[in-house]
Amino acid sequence: MFESLSDRLGKIFDGLRGRGALSENDVNEALREVRRALIEADVSLEVVRAFVEQVRERAVGVEVTRSVTPGQQVVKIVHDELVRVLGETAVPLDTATTPPATILMVGLQGSGKTTTTAKIAKRLKDKQNKKVLMASLDTRRPAAMEQLRVLGTQIGVDTLPIVPSETPVQIARRAAREGKLGGYDVLMLDTAGRTHIDEELMAETAEIKAVSDPHEVLLVADALTGQDAINLARSFDQRVDITGIVLTRVDGDGRGGAALSMRAATGKPIKLIATGEKMDALEDFHPGRIADRILG
Ligand code: GDP
Repeated sequence: MFESLSDRLGKIFDGLRGRGALSENDVNEALREVRRALIEADVSLEVVRAFVEQVRERAVGVEVTRSVTPGQQVVKIVHDELVRVLGETAVPLDTATTPPATILMVGLQGSGKTTTTAKIAKRLKDKQNKKVLMASLDTRRPAAMEQLRVLGTQIGVDTLPIVPSETPVQIARRAAREGKLGGYDVLMLDTAGRTHIDEELMAETAEIKAVSDPHEVLLVADALTGQDAINLARSFDQRVDITGIVLTRVDGDGRGGAALSMRAATGKPIKLIATGEKMDALEDFHPGRIADRILG
């Protein structure tokens, strides 16, 4: 993740680090390079603009010119600004409510929704000792329901028995009942996706949300889709008010544009990142650690 951006920034800062003094011109030159590197990493343009401005304001001020290590000072300012853009602090998954805490998983088909649902369930079970029930609401694709069932068996998490011919709303209601009666701490609802955003998908997701009254609405978005992932998050947020984002396939994402701009562009936190196909390939999103990773 972020390999190419990290490389580019590393080269820019190597040029600055050893310098005894930096003129405003030197700083501007470096910032032009930083701007180019961010754009190449597919970071949203508005985020790049605000980022560079913010760094420039601090970098041409007293902080750098009076510093004995001006190059390092610029790197620190860039680091701080990265952390700010990424959202400052980690926003953990919230399951603290009257049980069962319902987590509604939304997103496009193929984004990794079902896999991520199971990963989160496993994590809640293993790390927080939660009793979790998963239910697939994907009535159009029986294979997707079966996929969740199989994953459930694999990780030792219960799934709601599949009853053919129910509607997604009926399943959501049955899941809520079972969640209560069965004494579950967390209920995870894996909704149906489509290949692209359409009105039908949004209407169905909104209806399921109204019926299930979720504590978390997590958008699962594929990091490799870059700017599209951001547009997707905005669309879902406008319609169903998401509480957070899980970015998947960051293992294949050398650029990192979506990860970097998601928070600033949508206002919603990335809560988790998925880093592979295996059931434990899921990590918290820590802005500080991500900034460290980018700056090497
Ligand atoms: P859904 O249609 O949104 O439910 O997507 P699936 O959960 O079925 O995932 C689609 C494919 O993506 C599967 O082959 C998953 O193993 C794979 N996948 C999911 N998350 C990740 C990830 O973080 N990294 C990688 N490399 N593959 C993933």
